[in-house]
Amino acid sequence: SSNMAKSKFEYVRNFETDDTCLRNCYIVVRLDGRNFHRFSEQHNFTKPNDNRALGLMSRSARSVMEDMEDVVIAYGQSDEFSFVFKRNSTLFRRRASKLMTHVTSQFSSSYVFYWREFFGEQPLLYPPSFDGRVVLYPTNHNLRDYLSWRQADCHFNNLYNTVFWTLVQTGGLSTAQAEDRLKGTVAADKNEILFSEFNINYNNESALHKKGTTLIWTKQNETVTKCIKVSNEEEEKEVSVIRSRRRVQAHYCDIIGEQFWDEHPDILED
Ligand code: ATP
Ligand code: ATP
Ligand code: MG
Ligand code: MG
Ligand code: MG
Ligand code: MG
Repeated sequence: SSNMAKSKFEYVRNFETDDTCLRNCYIVVRLDGRNFHRFSEQHNFTKPNDNRALGLMSRSARSVMEDMEDVVIAYGQSDEFSFVFKRNSTLFRRRASKLMTHVTSQFSSSYVFYWREFFGEQPLLYPPSFDGRVVLYPTNHNLRDYLSWRQADCHFNNLYNTVFWTLVQTGGLSTAQAEDRLKGTVAADKNEILFSEFNINYNNESALHKKGTTLIWTKQNETVTKCIKVSNEEEEKEVSVIRSRRRVQAHYCDIIGEQFWDEHPDILED
């Protein structure tokens, strides 16, 4: 600090570069699990979608939001999660490295901390890690396109993985054969394979798997009992008070179209 004698080493601080995020932009931090292809195999994830793993991802993302309340919406699928900070956030003076590292380390430590709640006795074999990146989006339109891009990616991968693993698990194909079979197919072909060969209507698959997880804040009224000291009386009185609390709520719905944004108009600012 300024009133302390400065050492001759102090000048090295000037090598630090400024990474303040441009004002008025949404700050998006996206993290992604490192080598989760291998991690998911070693921890016996159910293919194509392990719900324990998805639940743990969501739980860890909630930890991040509760730790950093300026996050207005988070979207996750597979081994990734995106966190959107409100555009006028001043958290960590908008320093990109601070925001990114706090998000990814809070997420990673939560993933380990809550592992048992989702995987029970199945041991965590090694410490997982997540990479992080920061991207700025200047307009609501750009931000919505970003989230749409991630959800479209979820849909595309999930359709592929659903057919792939059905061909393997039910159709008896090897993974190499299934890969061959799907080479060059478009979405309609994949839907058709599922429907005509396995009697599966992709539309009826779980929304969590098709749409991913969207986390937003919701206001909830809760009744709490408080003890209030009434003057001129000896004893405390119990009264019920209604408090409004912000809670993280999960949605498994389309966020590409207008409906979600019409129903939650306060996520985006003008
Ligand atoms: P990188 O380090 O480059 O990110 P990666 O192996 O993590 O490599 P991704 O493209 O991030 O590659 O893909 C993550 C992989 O993790 C998926 O392809 C899938 O195999 C696996 N995976 C992640 N979540 C789940 C889940 N809930 N259920 C089953 N498998 C999952
Ligand atoms: P910030 O989030 O800004 O880093 P901070 O509370 O972590 O806030 P630091 O300047 O990083 O502040 O200081 C870390 C503090 O953690 C120390 O001042 C000390 O109180 C405590 N601390 C860290 N390691 C030890 C240790 N091994 N033994 C005792 N106290 C420790
Ligand atoms: Mg990757
Ligand atoms: Mg990954
Ligand atoms: Mg990924
Ligand atoms: Mg510290």
